[in-house]
Amino acid sequence: MRRIALLGATGSIGRSALDVIARHPERFEVVALSAQNRVDDLLDLCERFRPAQAVIGDAANLPVFEAGLRSRGLQTEALAGSVALDQIAADPGSDTVLAAIVGAAGVSSTLAAARAGKRLLLANKESVVLAGQVLMREAAAHGAKILPIDSEHNAIFQCLPAEGQRRGIRRLILTASGGPFRGRSRESLREVTPEQACSHPNWVMGRKISVDSATLMNKGLEVIEAHHLFGLPGERIEVVVHPQSTIHSLVDYVDGSMLAQLGNPDMRTALAYGLAWPERIDSGVAPLDLCAQARFDFEEPDREAFPCLDLAYAALKAGGTAPAILNAANEVAVAAFLAGSLPFLAIADVINATLSELPTEPADDLAVLLACDDQARRMAREWIKRMRA
Ligand code: NAD
Ligand code: MG
Repeated sequence: MRRIALLGATGSIGRSALDVIARHPERFEVVALSAQNRVDDLLDLCERFRPAQAVIGDAANLPVFEAGLRSRGLQTEALAGSVALDQIAADPGSDTVLAAIVGAAGVSSTLAAARAGKRLLLANKESVVLAGQVLMREAAAHGAKILPIDSEHNAIFQCLPAEGQRRGIRRLILTASGGPFRGRSRESLREVTPEQACSHPNWVMGRKISVDSATLMNKGLEVIEAHHLFGLPGERIEVVVHPQSTIHSLVDYVDGSMLAQLGNPDMRTALAYGLAWPERIDSGVAPLDLCAQARFDFEEPDREAFPCLDLAYAALKAGGTAPAILNAANEVAVAAFLAGSLPFLAIADVINATLSELPTEPADDLAVLLACDDQARRMAREWIKRMRA
């Protein structure tokens, strides 16, 4: 029996994971859940999955959450705040942690799970971009097994030989859907709205990652994520647009072989793989109908219309704290865009300005990274204010 702590249970990834878990009650037990502020949704999940503990991120909601548990007659222990997230990530009551919080807010609990030697199902890509070096070091030191959940990295993980035998790899190829604005000119993106940016052609996801997909920053973050997870330099990690999102990524070997992982675009496949690894279990995802699919198209990403991709490559090359600055500025800019206070095209401008202004330092210390994240956020907010003035 795997005992699972699910951080970010009310999100898109969290719900997909619970769907897979519910299909296999003989294999999986949910021992802890978390949500930031959706009290009613978290209560419903507690009623359904009966975890021993549940964390409401926003402590102001704790009294309502506790009252809700009592009125439903549930024994779940209620906790609140980010320290409690670290606590349930590290608690020996679970052997598996799903890191499905969005943004750098997930870094502390992700690291806590790594330090506790858990099986770490890693969806929270921002924590890898922010602190990849520290995370990989801590996971190795404490025997944590990282299973990538991001579909591209999960695909690559499936196409690679076991760790220690990873020779003969020429490059990794990450596929990108191209997002809702694929094929559009830079000029035509001036007035796009958050609603348009969030209506992704192939995947249903949270709003932050949906905007990242629209700017191609999502792919940029994934290049940095792949660098840390698989140990290849940015020059050997390529991006190709594949509008059908059926091939989830590829590994190109020196002998001319290319291995790909295919499937319908549904995160439950990656989650089922991570949950049951090295076994395979039913995920609820329909098998891919190759003849109905018929075509696999590929094209180069449009780097002029979507400059965020190259900003991410440049940050990876600069190294040190540059990816942390990129990530922080992106989070601030995307939040401002979603709030209607920043135009779509200015997202890249805010990131670029923040990156140019802040110096890059070595990135092997979490305290330095978090201070840098904080500083980059303040600077990005300052830029947004100036742009609006
Ligand atoms: P989402 O917005 O749907 O859900 C986010 C979850 O995190 C929610 O449960 C929310 O309560 C919690 N949360 C939000 N802010 C928090 C905070 N400050 N502290 C603690 N908890 C907080 O997001 P999502 O689409 O499920 O994405 C989750 C992560 O997985 C992201 O890092 C994303 O990039 C990654 N990811 C998502 C998908 C996808 O298909 N949705 C695919 C690949 C990777
Ligand atoms: Mg992805």
